[in-house]
Amino acid sequence: MSYVFVVDQERKPLDPVHPARARYLLTSGHAAVLRRYPFTIMLKESKPDVVPAPLRVKIDPGSKTTGIAVVNDATGQVVWAAELEHRGQQVKKNLEDRRASRRSRRQRHTRYRSARFDNRHRSDGWLPPSLESRISNVLTWVERLQHWVPIAALSQELVRFDTQIMQNPEISGVEYQQGTLAGYELREYLLEKWERRCAYCGQQNRPLQIEHIIPKARSGSDQVSNLTLACESCNQKKGTQTAAEFGFPDLHKQAHKPLKDAAAVNTSRWALYRRLQATGLPVEVGSGGLTKWNRSQRAIPKTHWLDAACVGASTPESLRWQQVGPLAIKATGWQRRQMCLMDAYGFPRTRAKEHSRVHGFKTGDLVKAVVMTGAKAGTYVGKVAVRATGSFTITTPAGTIQGIHSRYCQPLHRGDGYSYAIGGASSPCLKPGVSAPNV
Ligand SMILES: [Zn+2]
Repeated sequence: MSYVFVVDQERKPLDPVHPARARYLLTSGHAAVLRRYPFTIMLKESKPDVVPAPLRVKIDPGSKTTGIAVVNDATGQVVWAAELEHRGQQVKKNLEDRRASRRSRRQRHTRYRSARFDNRHRSDGWLPPSLESRISNVLTWVERLQHWVPIAALSQELVRFDTQIMQNPEISGVEYQQGTLAGYELREYLLEKWERRCAYCGQQNRPLQIEHIIPKARSGSDQVSNLTLACESCNQKKGTQTAAEFGFPDLHKQAHKPLKDAAAVNTSRWALYRRLQATGLPVEVGSGGLTKWNRSQRAIPKTHWLDAACVGASTPESLRWQQVGPLAIKATGWQRRQMCLMDAYGFPRTRAKEHSRVHGFKTGDLVKAVVMTGAKAGTYVGKVAVRATGSFTITTPAGTIQGIHSRYCQPLHRGDGYSYAIGGASSPCLKPGVSAPNV
């Protein structure tokens, strides 16, 4: 399990504690629950003299999922971890849908707002909304963690491989040595150069082996310009033939071309790096090769959050991660900007949007509803969808229940643009949605 975050009465972040300690503090009345996800408690006294141990937030940014780990560098303890699922694809789809519906209204001479005078320009550092959303997700979580954890430093995986080690490997003649840090960097370089596919059959998403274009048995070198990637079956079939004999005469020429720098530069990772620096915390960067090296040296399995824990040269020699269960965080977005839904002909189908807050609840809040009597008697825990009438719909793990009035609902966790689950399952720390009637 992950540790529990603790803040004092003045909301100063203190050392995170073991869940058993948190349970004691809560049951003995020394603390109260501040937040459910991530679980944070607030002490009922202030601790101005306590100096908490500094922690490091480590980030492995990905296009779909970003791994986040909070690590104590001194003890090697992974204090907390999360896998943050982005909604970049959803953002892209929403914008495409909007564009399609506006275009169709113009084509059909339906009522539409004409284009305004185009005097807008993109500011420096503009990114497409789908990328912007991913970066904002990560920054949001770094900022949130700063409220609950004593953070002293950040680590981010910035590049796939270290260009310092890899300065023009084709020309400077770096040699591949298996099981060294430089070997891991070179492997990442080759993956990037050969586009993560087998050079012979072109298949992706399968284990690739480093393959000598002129085999070692025929005095081929270990230099990068003699290396490519192949799947196991192609590697077996090729045996001791050269690539030309195997039917790929162009491969040698291709292997001599250095990788263009542009291929290794990832726009959104650099944008994230600049914005992390703006937080004022020291930001350490590492390469993907170093992450893999750290992970394999410590015999740690590959997951997003464990990759994050292995980012950078600061990674402790012995990382204590076995007890940690990562929090699965999914970006859900807040609302939609469309004022009302349309029918097939582009005419308004629903009324204009009403207030999003009804009797103090908003769609997306996690609530507990206890209904004592009637056909719907029972206890329901789940996400609420509010209705202006006050009769809400609650989505529980066991199913959706409609017509629960707001007077039965208690808020557990206010909607904050993200949904949460622990260890992939849907909120196992909560009781199943429907329990026996509570009369
Ligand atoms: Zn192959």
